[in-house]
Amino acid sequence: MAERQPLRWAMRLLPAVVLGLLLAGPSSAATGDAPPGKIGLKPRREVAGKSAIFSGEQLVLEETDWYLLNLFRLWWHYGISFLRLQMWVEEVMEKFMRIYKYQAHGYAFSSLEELLRSLGSETFVNMTQRSVAESLLEVGVTQRFIDDVIAAVLRSSYGQSVLMPAFAGAMSLAGAQGNTWAVEGGNKLVCSGLLKLTKANVVQARVTGVSLQSSNGKALYQVRYEDDEDQGSAFYDMVVIATPLHFDRSNITFENFDPPITDFPGSFHPTISSVVHGYLNSSYFGFPDPKLFPFASILTTDSPDLFFNALDNICPVNISGTFRRKQPQEAAVWRVLSQQPLDKQQLKTLFRSYYSVQVMEWEAYPHYDSSKSLPPIILHDNLFYLNGVEWVASSMEMVAMAAKNVALLAYNRWYQDLEKIDQKDLMHKVKTEL
Ligand SMILES: Cc1cc2nc3c(=O)[nH]c(=O)nc-3n(C[C@H](O)[C@H](O)[C@H](O)COP(=O)(O)OP(=O)(O)OC[C@H]3O[C@@H](n4cnc5c(N)ncnc54)[C@H](O)[C@@H]3O)c2cc1C
Repeated sequence: MAERQPLRWAMRLLPAVVLGLLLAGPSSAATGDAPPGKIGLKPRREVAGKSAIFSGEQLVLEETDWYLLNLFRLWWHYGISFLRLQMWVEEVMEKFMRIYKYQAHGYAFSSLEELLRSLGSETFVNMTQRSVAESLLEVGVTQRFIDDVIAAVLRSSYGQSVLMPAFAGAMSLAGAQGNTWAVEGGNKLVCSGLLKLTKANVVQARVTGVSLQSSNGKALYQVRYEDDEDQGSAFYDMVVIATPLHFDRSNITFENFDPPITDFPGSFHPTISSVVHGYLNSSYFGFPDPKLFPFASILTTDSPDLFFNALDNICPVNISGTFRRKQPQEAAVWRVLSQQPLDKQQLKTLFRSYYSVQVMEWEAYPHYDSSKSLPPIILHDNLFYLNGVEWVASSMEMVAMAAKNVALLAYNRWYQDLEKIDQKDLMHKVKTEL
């Protein structure tokens, strides 16, 4: 999966982030020097590119090659909002990272609320209910900064507005800080590599249902599946559902459970990704001469006239040492993210001409509505559900973290190691444990 590049570029507009990078030094991941890991993968080389934010009429913020000028512009337009944002995001992330310590000590959580509470007390739980805008206003970020910059980042990552919940918003803003990276050859190699490493017995089929059965007084789960030619089933002691269970996404039925297991409320937010090979119409963005168009990524504000969320110049999954971005007047490959498929007129607005358009519709992330409660992790004694975590925040890291939590939870429950589940005051406990 392609990483969310526009996000990163948007946040690179924030010099505080640049400061952070200077302090930390460039990560080896970002520079592509990290040694190959257990599954022999390498980070993909970075290709520099500047961003701007477009209101539908004009660019409201433009990144330049000069750090001090970027800093001055941010301060001039928004005062110290960008510093306040940075501090807020850092505080959330610092607390979130505690999960890795807890998991290293084998601790697990039986609900998303318990998990959040152990990381950031009631504040984290509340952050799944209140909006990003509300939380940021509270820490002194100005409405103008929220409307111009935060809205643009959230539109490009989640296709949603600043009314989405603060926790998912914070994760998205953290992901935009420039220290995310992609895998050389494509992120999908992580999944296939890990699967190979586990030596798991994979049944290539579509699961149609799970039913509770008993054999010699012992509860077992019968999993039914089918492929194009055949149907089958098998019995398991434990089952983990690792796909969203919502009415517009799920096709798995559950039988013999009391109380019954049904789909969870809430829907997924469609995002259309159009990959266009063509010549960008730079005039639309105020650059009549295409040679002078300096940006690799355009984010947008929440304007009713805009028909797209973000647009970025994409690079191949393998980047050779000699790779360079196309000149702005050359034909290049652009990705446009939008809520609706682009019609011919809209494509003509964005591109002077094009060779090809590939459209992919994703049921991408939850349609965040702060009033929804979080789905459970435990559906039945040894039947677990992983993707409820996407309602806290939807990203690969979140589901990987949730997967480890489910693995630890299942293990601790199986071996009755209840001390390792839903423990309070874990910060203190892990400090004092050997
Ligand atoms: C366009 C887009 C861009 C994104 N960009 C990023 C990004 O840059 N960074 C980031 O961290 N996250 C990104 N995400 C989010 C990220 O992709 C998800 O958080 C992540 O893929 C969730 O992983 P998962 O394994 O839980 O679920 P999924 O990736 O949804 O996998 C579920 C799997 O279950 C399979 N399945 C479904 N039903 C059945 C069934 N009945 N039987 C058998 N198999 C079934 C599906 O085919 C699928 O392979 C992006 C998402 C989208 C849509």
